[in-house]
Amino acid sequence: MAGAEFGFELRVCAWAERQWDPADADSDVLVARQLGTQRRRWDTVLIEADPDALRERAAFGPDELDPDLRSLVANAPAEWTYYRDALPDPGYPWRYAREAIHRASARGVLAERKRDNRIEIRRIAPYPDWVRRLVAIENKPDLDASAARALADQLERDVALGLADEVWVATRADATHALVTEMPSAAGVLTFDRSARGDASSGRTGEQERQPGATRERDTMDANIVWHPRTLDPERTGVRVTDHGDPTNFEYVPANEKRETRARIAERAYGRGWRAYADTMRPDCRAFDLRKDGDGYVPYCHANGCEQTAAECAGSCAEFSPEPPGWRQRGWPIEGGPGTAIKRLLDVRRRRRRPGLDERDGEAD
Ligand code: SF4
Repeated sequence: MAGAEFGFELRVCAWAERQWDPADADSDVLVARQLGTQRRRWDTVLIEADPDALRERAAFGPDELDPDLRSLVANAPAEWTYYRDALPDPGYPWRYAREAIHRASARGVLAERKRDNRIEIRRIAPYPDWVRRLVAIENKPDLDASAARALADQLERDVALGLADEVWVATRADATHALVTEMPSAAGVLTFDRSARGDASSGRTGEQERQPGATRERDTMDANIVWHPRTLDPERTGVRVTDHGDPTNFEYVPANEKRETRARIAERAYGRGWRAYADTMRPDCRAFDLRKDGDGYVPYCHANGCEQTAAECAGSCAEFSPEPPGWRQRGWPIEGGPGTAIKRLLDVRRRRRRPGLDERDGEAD
């Protein structure tokens, strides 16, 4: 992903987290990036969630529940029950179900005990139906003619499958109207316009400037809806194009399979959010900075004088330079240093969008 595209994607995520207008006004909005299926990954995914159910979901912790764990917690009974009486036949050997039970128990999302040499299970809380809608956004800041054609084809497929409730393309406001009109009419079009705000600081003056939150506000993006999408119906059988040759090959995707896929994507969105880039980048590099940019933060590299991508900002970067020991005092190596502080800041912001987690963990933001 090019640097401009990565930065644009983070700005779209930050904007959506603050400004997205859900279909039900009381829905909470969770934002994640780079999620989807084996065949199709979307740049930005929004989950519009029932606020009460989202709070109940927090009982299962901040991490995603994979399909095996989600099936377990959704079927676990309120009273102690022999696991084979409680769970539906998995369709594979029961020992795999037992492994999943041990894993769930170790994670604290299911209660397990042994009675008369039998494994019994009990739920820790009912698993709620917390997802109302799923919205997919494809980010293409530089939409030239060939990118527009390729994107239009992808969006046609998204519409035919109907896995998301809405599909959108987000681009810069200077993408020409003619290119935007290439998009299928069922897909929405969002354009973003940069508008200067605050002090556009550049250059680095030392540790103080690098502390997250101490950076200066720079600019923001104003969004305009150029075209409203058609609401799709995930509860209907979808059509998946498997080969765009002549003739085009396709297969039907039943509603229950789409329901399962949506639930899996929603759990991933809950666990990962859109700030997980700090886990693979090098915030412990002395050149790494987070800059306030409108609705959120974007990474900035002082060594290269630009916003770096996640791929560039890796252990293999020739310019990597570890934080000097003087920056790592007061709690280092567990809590000290700007790199750790950056990760903590991003994690706190992610948790704020997941109500109930702090009550569960007995922590405060
Ligand atoms: S120098 Fe390399 S590792 Fe350090 S912040 Fe810049 S891109 Fe990342």
